[in-house]
Amino acid sequence: RAIANGPYQYLLAAIGLLLLALSIVTTIYVRRALERERLARRELQHFAMTDALTALPNRRSFMKELDRAIERAQAKPDRTLSLAIFDIDHFKRINDMFGHDTGDEVLIAVAEGLKQENVFPARQGGEEFVVLIYGEDYQRLAETVRRQITLSVLEKVPEVPFPVTASAGLTEVRPNDTLDSAVKRGDEALYAAKDAGRDQLLLWQDGKHSQ
Ligand code: GH3
Ligand code: MG
Ligand code: MG
Repeated sequence: RAIANGPYQYLLAAIGLLLLALSIVTTIYVRRALERERLARRELQHFAMTDALTALPNRRSFMKELDRAIERAQAKPDRTLSLAIFDIDHFKRINDMFGHDTGDEVLIAVAEGLKQENVFPARQGGEEFVVLIYGEDYQRLAETVRRQITLSVLEKVPEVPFPVTASAGLTEVRPNDTLDSAVKRGDEALYAAKDAGRDQLLLWQDGKHSQ
């Protein structure tokens, strides 16, 4: 009987091995598919948070960072958090004089200039950029960023033979601020800077704008 069962045992063993091999192949296949999906989702998330032209964080990403920063500031109220809005002066002229592609190159160079330590920059839209500044030294840092914009464009876009300047509005962020309330004060200071002749940074303080 044992002899008669022999071929069956081989058959069963072969089926067992086949099933084992099948399950290994399936596991590998499913793992790969999950990994591909994870990467695709991460890439999608990256694109949803990144400005396509400058590769800077976009407004949505900035909102997330602002929420996180406000939470941290609430936990440690001694940490100063500020927001600055930069708008390129007479940018339309650059497009008109040198073409839209050069305008795009200028925006890419501006984005490079915004990358400073203790600063989280984002493209708000068009030729307007918003940055979060961490720490007490925010006025000096905001002015450094503003000057770096001009230097970066001078260095990276030699087709534009004159200095490209930016105006900026700066405000401290309060613990109960939202993006809109903080940006509103930054915008007020920015428009005061434009009105005052451009190429300058103004600080919003108690409803007034000062240098
Ligand atoms: P101001 O000093 O008052 O800010 O003047 P401005 O010319 O910079 O401002 P305005 O709002 O009149 O013009 C902004 C221009 O920015 C108009 C628009 O065509 C251009 N622009 C917006 N987004 C882009 C972009 O992605 N690439 C390029 N090349 N131009 C852009
Ligand atoms: Mg402008
Ligand atoms: Mg503008």
